[in-house]
Amino acid sequence: MAKELRCSDVMPESGCREVIRGKDEKEVMTKASEHARTAHNMTHMTPEVEKKVRGAIHDQR
Ligand SMILES: [Zn+2]
Repeated sequence: MAKELRCSDVMPESGCREVIRGKDEKEVMTKASEHARTAHNMTHMTPEVEKKVRGAIHDQR
């Protein structure tokens, strides 16, 4: 099942509308860390953020 992640679910205060999609959770995580770095200047994800991201990933609709 393909997965997706809405950036606003992780960082509602950013107002970012990015939706990251991947074929599985691993791919979404990889793309999410890249998006965080390029779009939000977040050079690395803290375990806390990573947990939040994992919790926000859901099946693509
Ligand atoms: Zn974003």
